[in-house]
Amino acid sequence: APIISLKKVSKVFANGTVALKEMSLDIKRGEFVSLLGPSGCGKSTALRIIAGLSTASSGSVTWPEEARRGKPAEDGGHEISFVFQEPTLMPWATVFGNVWLPLRLKGVSKRAARDDVIAALEMVGLEDFADSYPRELSGGMKMRVSIARALVTKPRLLLMDEPFAALDEITRFKLNNDLLHLWEKFGWTVIFVTHSVFESVYLSNRIVVMAARPGRVVEDMAVDAPYPRE
Ligand code: ADP
Ligand code: ADP
Repeated sequence: APIISLKKVSKVFANGTVALKEMSLDIKRGEFVSLLGPSGCGKSTALRIIAGLSTASSGSVTWPEEARRGKPAEDGGHEISFVFQEPTLMPWATVFGNVWLPLRLKGVSKRAARDDVIAALEMVGLEDFADSYPRELSGGMKMRVSIARALVTKPRLLLMDEPFAALDEITRFKLNNDLLHLWEKFGWTVIFVTHSVFESVYLSNRIVVMAARPGRVVEDMAVDAPYPRE
């Protein structure tokens, strides 16, 4: 069963804008899916609906795997993590404190969270910066912290909304590289919103192309990796 299934999901805003028209999409475990398309084609709207931050005007969003297991995620959520374009770190907390936050909100003490926080920081190569503050880090490092924060809860679905858009080209390329290697190693399920054809081809094994006015899916294609994957 797919992890998440969208069936003819439409979104019409109060002002009449059809942000999304009959989008259908099944995401399977381990897929790295890019939502690719120009500004205004409904990528963010789709991601927000998947995350439960917004509701569809019509159509359905279901979690077949969860339904099959017969119980929702323990905390009532769907074990989703969201990485936004801005790293949105708490400036008064250390890197450790920022990555600990989602666990802390679930009531996990600092001591109990320690191994998971350090493991998440190791994934993004920042284990030596646990005691640093966000202001001491570069833009790329802050983005890595926000990725570590998204991963620390071991989400079943990782949503990324143009996460590297605000970074310079070199940093962006490095992060793309790291993200790809991490994904190959850990096999998360990722939905990655981008308007960069390069990024979508480089990172994904599936590209969903969208068009605007109204926002809709115009193509859904598998991408062959340019090099062997284990
Ligand atoms: P993308 O992420 O692909 O740039 P969005 O999902 O942000 O596209 O937006 C899709 C369309 O819906 C755009 O035309 C946008 O202006 C419109 N839109 C987004 N949010 C709202 C809203 N809250 N109210 C009205 N229109 C909106
Ligand atoms: P709903 O509650 O109907 O699901 P959302 O929560 O998805 O709507 O709305 C998303 C946010 O986008 C709102 O907080 C709104 O303030 C903001 N917004 C309003 N107009 C636009 C627009 N044209 N483009 C993008 N965002 C908008």
